[in-house]
Amino acid sequence: MEIFKEPVNVVLRQFNSNIENGLDKSTILSARKKYGKNILKITNSRNFINILFSQFKSPLVIILMIASMISYYLGQPRDGSILLVIVLLNALIGFYQEWKSENILASLNKLIVNKCTVIREKKTIEIITEDLVPGDVVKLYEGDGVPADIRLIHTNGFSVNEFILTGESLPSDKDYLFATDKTIPFVEIKNCVYMGTTVARGQATGIVYATGLQTEIGKISTSSQKIKVPDAPVQTEIADVAKKLTYAILLIGACLFGTRLLLNDSIPVALVFAVSVAAAMVPEGLPAQISMALALAVGRLAKRNAIVKKIASAQTLGSATVIASDKTGTITKNEMTITGCYFNSESFLVSGLGYEPQGNISNEKNIVMKKESLGDLKIFFLSGFLSSTGKISPPDTFHSTWHAIGDPTEAAFATLAIKAGFTLEEIEKEYPMIKVFPFDSVRKRASIIRSHKEKIVSSVKGSIESVLAVSAKIISNGAVSELTTTQKEAIMAKATAFSENALRIIAIAYKDLEIKKDYTIEEAEQDLTFAGFVTMFDPPHSQVKAAIELVFKAQMKVFMITGDNEVTAKAIAKNIGLMNPNNTFPLVINNTTLQNMNDEELKKVFSNRAIIFSRVSPDDKLRIVDLLMQQGEIVAVTGDGVNDTLSLKRADIGIAMGRNGSKVAQEAANMILLDDDFSTIVVAVKEGRIIFRNLEKTIKTNLSSNVAELTCVLFGFAGSFLGIPTPILAVQILLIDMIGEMFPLTMLTYDPPEKNIMEISPRNPKDKILTKDTIKGIVFSGTIMGLVSFSAFIITYFANFDRSNHYEKAITITFISIIFSQYANLLSRRTYGAALGSYFLSNKKLLLAFLFSISCIFLIVYVPMFNYYFHTSPLLLKDWLYPITAGSVCLILFELKKYIFQKNNL
Ligand code: ADP
Ligand code: MG
Repeated sequence: MEIFKEPVNVVLRQFNSNIENGLDKSTILSARKKYGKNILKITNSRNFINILFSQFKSPLVIILMIASMISYYLGQPRDGSILLVIVLLNALIGFYQEWKSENILASLNKLIVNKCTVIREKKTIEIITEDLVPGDVVKLYEGDGVPADIRLIHTNGFSVNEFILTGESLPSDKDYLFATDKTIPFVEIKNCVYMGTTVARGQATGIVYATGLQTEIGKISTSSQKIKVPDAPVQTEIADVAKKLTYAILLIGACLFGTRLLLNDSIPVALVFAVSVAAAMVPEGLPAQISMALALAVGRLAKRNAIVKKIASAQTLGSATVIASDKTGTITKNEMTITGCYFNSESFLVSGLGYEPQGNISNEKNIVMKKESLGDLKIFFLSGFLSSTGKISPPDTFHSTWHAIGDPTEAAFATLAIKAGFTLEEIEKEYPMIKVFPFDSVRKRASIIRSHKEKIVSSVKGSIESVLAVSAKIISNGAVSELTTTQKEAIMAKATAFSENALRIIAIAYKDLEIKKDYTIEEAEQDLTFAGFVTMFDPPHSQVKAAIELVFKAQMKVFMITGDNEVTAKAIAKNIGLMNPNNTFPLVINNTTLQNMNDEELKKVFSNRAIIFSRVSPDDKLRIVDLLMQQGEIVAVTGDGVNDTLSLKRADIGIAMGRNGSKVAQEAANMILLDDDFSTIVVAVKEGRIIFRNLEKTIKTNLSSNVAELTCVLFGFAGSFLGIPTPILAVQILLIDMIGEMFPLTMLTYDPPEKNIMEISPRNPKDKILTKDTIKGIVFSGTIMGLVSFSAFIITYFANFDRSNHYEKAITITFISIIFSQYANLLSRRTYGAALGSYFLSNKKLLLAFLFSISCIFLIVYVPMFNYYFHTSPLLLKDWLYPITAGSVCLILFELKKYIFQKNNL
């Protein structure tokens, strides 16, 4: 059945639903059984087989396998099999790392709880979209994600972004009255909306007709839609380096091959030697190691409530230099309680906290006002509620307390109306809604037109300035009179006094309209009768104060960007330690000042480490972000509404809210805060810095050991002209990469931050990890490690010349020496302090990896079977002195160098 061709009542009947009451419990249960959960299968962007096979695609692995086959062919099954085993093990480890990374990334989506508003059993409630069933009556608001395929039954200035389905980037208008009997493409269907699209404007009610895999997007996504996640800059850099190194080493390999031929080796023997040595020295495990380290970090971020959508952002985060944050909902909790009202030149106190409709209203003489004694105050409370779309709902399965449904600012008026003695259902019935002009942060007002008996009223609320600006009259003591400038000033003064106590102000006004078919926003919001205002309390998140301190320590800037006025903004800034007690710091720039500043002037004030921007519109925000970025700042910006998408997309790190944010903002952002908390941004920045520091260690340590192996091989090669045998064999080099490196290096990603990580300035993201200086450092340590190990070989080879097995012993010692000097290298590089100081024991996983690595060495040295395969030989106790000395010499040299060049080449 093509739902868009059917009249609404047919659809309702099909699903046993009802527009006013929604579904009842039994219908919901049977629908759930019949249709299942409303979820799409999350398909990994790459599947199992795909990842497994890609491990064998690298040219080196292929060459290595050929080398192994040649070994068999030459009748050296021992080398052939061991090469094969090592290739396979390497591939498996690489596979595991990539598979794990993919899974971590894929699982993140599940952490973002998508909610939607439905009518069930006569009540408007909020549920998670997973629980939606066909037949549910859903309400859709600006910025929402469309949670299922829905036939619209009511629309109000409603348009949706359907790019994901139709490829059309402009919002398309929807109209519930649209009817057709032809089969038409999606773009033309005006009376349905589809899962995965988002609401661009307006509001609608509709009935769900398809969920989960039955939805249009569900049908597409089962035929598999793959999105390639772009790599982080560090991944690109290292992939590039690995590629260059591969070529360089293949070249070296070719030279070795040629020379071995000259030394009268047969072609296959020379080939096996050259190829396997070359392959051993390529850091082919590094890219997978980095991917896994990044993915693990992304997983850790998720545990701390920050969902990073692109792996690249995890790296960018660590370089953030400015955090530009909203006030409401990020710095504060967006839990609105109306604490007082101002009406008739009199203030009233409202008791109770949160959305629970418990509390009362008392006047200046502390007398509690009953519904009967409210008098003309009633019109005030009524208008407040009539201008709001928000609802409140008691605790339920998904919420532990009374909670807001829809915009918290709007929902607070529902609580207030009940406290004033009204019954919401009754008001709703007596004042049916005709048209809604929702709040937007440009005009800073919201209005709703409703009919009441024979009359039409428009109820308006918004910021005090914006409401006074469109008010011409005022009601006091039941009488309406002209609103004079003096009165306006007095009201403003009163409001400012409240703002100084960190309260938000929402003013309320109304007007009667003539009866006609349709109304414009100008008609609804002009020549209003001013009623009064309410004060709203919105507590700051508890960790914000500490977070702000940390931001300053970490040499980042904080800009508070708010649509609220200067006074409230300042008062809140003071509460969280952003503003000093005597109001001298930071600078406060309101939108008028901002508009009068040209770009150059603005860039100049950006040098301040904190600024408060008040009464800012989304355009201003975009301008601020833009200019900051032009100055090379790395900007993290938060946003929640539809209007914030441009800023979110433009900034280096766009941050959306997971709880109170719109779906639209979440889609534009690259990070989502599950707890909507400013301090989580700071936690994420810190995590970003840790990630980077640990990656840096991994990369540098890894590459130095390749240089060490190369040095050893090249010396051995030179030595071969003097009749000295090869100091280390190819299989052993491969083995070093596996047991000496893979495990300890992977564990470096768990290294804890050093104390100063949030006290140094942010790293310039354009800086490469491998600068000339660091490459020099890597070559330096690698050469030392190689030299020391080669020396160990020479000494043992000649010292033990008369003993049996002396060659195997010597190469065993070289093998262990390289590993031990690699340990030294790793230990020295992982801290700015002393390698064996307090930091030494800080990472248990690393210590375990060492233990594992050392155990493997023992097996390889003492188990006869391994001796046979790896050409090693058991060592006497005193033989261990050589590798231990090699490691110690390296450690001492590296530590010395660190102290001498403290800053440079870590
Ligand atoms: P912020 O998020 O920085 O507090 P907003 O742009 O959300 O700023 O709000 C600016 C002002 O608009 C608020 O101070 C308040 O007076 C008013 N306002 C906010 N939300 C609503 C709403 N839903 N209806 C009417 N007015 C609102
Ligand atoms: Mg806001």
